Amino acid sequence: MDSFTLGAKRPLIIAGPCSAETREQTLDTCVRLASTGVVDVLRAGIWKPRTQPGTFEGVGLPGLAWMAEAKRLTGLPIATEVASKKHVESALEFGVDLLWLGARTTVSPFAVQEVADAVRGTNSKILIKNPMNPDIALWAGAVNRFVNVGIPIENIGLIHRGFSYFGHSKYRNPPMWHMILEMRSRFPEMMMICDPSHICGCRDYLGEISQTAADLRYDGLIVESHIHPDEAWSDAKQQLEPEPLEHMIRKINWRKETADCPEFQKSLNLYRDEIDQIDSELFELLGRRMDICEKIGEVKKQNDVAILQSNRWGVIRDRILSQAPKFKLSEEFVKTVLEAIHIESISRQNSIMNK
Ligand code: PEP
Ligand code: MN
Repeated sequence: MDSFTLGAKRPLIIAGPCSAETREQTLDTCVRLASTGVVDVLRAGIWKPRTQPGTFEGVGLPGLAWMAEAKRLTGLPIATEVASKKHVESALEFGVDLLWLGARTTVSPFAVQEVADAVRGTNSKILIKNPMNPDIALWAGAVNRFVNVGIPIENIGLIHRGFSYFGHSKYRNPPMWHMILEMRSRFPEMMMICDPSHICGCRDYLGEISQTAADLRYDGLIVESHIHPDEAWSDAKQQLEPEPLEHMIRKINWRKETADCPEFQKSLNLYRDEIDQIDSELFELLGRRMDICEKIGEVKKQNDVAILQSNRWGVIRDRILSQAPKFKLSEEFVKTVLEAIHIESISRQNSIMNK
């Protein structure tokens, strides 16, 4: 097989079981996935870093032999997660084409450096999952460790698998899409792959998360698939059988980045002009609002009154929130904007009062 090139195929579809469990499960899943015709790379976890001890921690080396067999049988490249020098050496020995760093590894600079040192001087292709916590600097730091050992930027890609979150969410790891925009602006040329399986944690929203990724021009997906999902030894709730996976992948509309048609360009330009105008007006108004906050700061200072009068803030918030439906804005959005305005107002009053 020719050596695998990252970026040659977009969207890149990676699929396979969360974990290789047995030879039969690994081969059956991989062969069925290959015959769907929509999968470009086969994945399986061989060493599983688990949040809880006592849960399945991967089959280790025998699993690599099964993946190598799946590669021979299907002709497809194979991918696995690595977290140490030993993992890298074994994976490369068994002909693994694409390595990935898991979310629990990206959070640990020592482990990332160990993997980076192990791939130094090889032709490895590596995907780096976002860290568990929404820390873009930590994620970017992991990328830079690979760049620093001489891995060409085109051999490095990113996986967005959502962020661990304390609180209630319908997702196992909420996507926080805005964090990804920040990462993409730091590494604009790098492949960004979405992992709907670990974002969702269940089968229900895999399709809609995949479509959102396509709409945001991601470069591919990594999706977990198992011949008997309910009996999987890890991540049973989120895995799909190969055929439903095929159905989901075929339904995704990977819209194009742009269209040449003059009508499209004309309407787009008109709407963009309108948005630019509204943005200018919005921020001019916000500026005026802050000027008034400074005047209030002067009055409070002269009368030696504290900045924060909590009941006043409650009144402002309730009044605007009650108008949210009229503006056709979600309550969550209105709250976020109001909070940002409030923080800036307090800081402006503070600078006046302590001048
Ligand atoms: C996995 O891909 O099976 C995995 C363990 O993912 P993550 O590192 O995103 O939790
Ligand atoms: Mn998994």
